[in-house]
Amino acid sequence: MTRFSFAVTATDGKARSGVISTARGEIRTPAFMPVGTAATVKAMLPESVRATGADILLGNTYHLMLRPSAERIARLGGLHKFMNWERPILTDSGGFQVMSLASLRKLTEEGVTFSSHIDGSKHHLSPERSMEIQKLLGSDIVMAFDECPALPATEEAVAKSMRLSMRWAQRSRDAFGDRPGHALFGIMQGGVTRALREESAEALTAIGFDGYAVGGLAVGEGQEAMFSVLDYAPGCLPEERPRYLMGVGKPDDIVGAVERGIDMMDCVLPSRSGRTGQAWTRRGQINIKNARHMDDPRPLDEACTCPACRNYSRAYLHHVFRAQEMISGMLLTWHNLHYYQELMAGLRAAIAAGQLSDFVAQFHALRAEGDIDPL
Ligand SMILES: [Zn+2]
Repeated sequence: MTRFSFAVTATDGKARSGVISTARGEIRTPAFMPVGTAATVKAMLPESVRATGADILLGNTYHLMLRPSAERIARLGGLHKFMNWERPILTDSGGFQVMSLASLRKLTEEGVTFSSHIDGSKHHLSPERSMEIQKLLGSDIVMAFDECPALPATEEAVAKSMRLSMRWAQRSRDAFGDRPGHALFGIMQGGVTRALREESAEALTAIGFDGYAVGGLAVGEGQEAMFSVLDYAPGCLPEERPRYLMGVGKPDDIVGAVERGIDMMDCVLPSRSGRTGQAWTRRGQINIKNARHMDDPRPLDEACTCPACRNYSRAYLHHVFRAQEMISGMLLTWHNLHYYQELMAGLRAAIAAGQLSDFVAQFHALRAEGDIDPL
């Protein structure tokens, strides 16, 4: 069985491109991971997600443990078989979503009890239970169980929460055991305070993980604050391991994170926007419900090779959105995921060629021009 490994094949400034190897296939980095919350990337068939260029998907422990339950998925052959996706899957630990979605939370050193947002039923998560659930799901990349403090929080509260997460990181490592081909990632916390981020990185590195995530960002602090952390945070983590920025983001967040040495990202944005009539293109964001598209026979983006752009006009996409037809979410989601994966492919090629700064300049120049004028 292929052991989990990461090879950096090119660097340009702080940016890296490379390959992560897992038992279920390779992941080209920098990688964008579409989010398949409830064992589906909404509005997409798995083969369509693959066709956009995705090497790996993300699944949510919190959602899957509540419905249909990790034990049921395990009985049915694991998450890959259940959702018909054979390639790598990363699952989050449930920690973040328990904090943002569940009710009646009770947090102790041991773990957290909570009530389901679906039916109010009572559940428990701890580092050990999170490792067990992610193993039942068959996840290729497992995330350590951490706590995310609700914002706004004082520096003292962020420090206390980070230290709890570091104790949980050790318990996650102990419970994960030795699983060849599978990986466990630790999660750096510490808010926007450099000393706390450094303390967190040191604690995680001492435990030793297969990869490291930068957590606790993209939670409303704004791009400037996020980039100010990313200016130093990736450099605190072991160079030879993949670095994953959780929950990011918009295309310009992704470009800025890759420039700062991030290898992996995930976000619901391209799929969620696709269902609300928002398209992301090389020229920025387009709102398809805007009346200016009503008579426009041109595609969303003339340079895009996705089915929505190859076969349909802006006028059609506008019509099906207004008529609330299901194909609207399907086509816009496909386009958005395709655009995101094209962006990642462009970043990887630019890093390999040592031309990242030119690529980034071109990226910003096209966005500054804005969308094409109405006919
Ligand atoms: Zn397209």
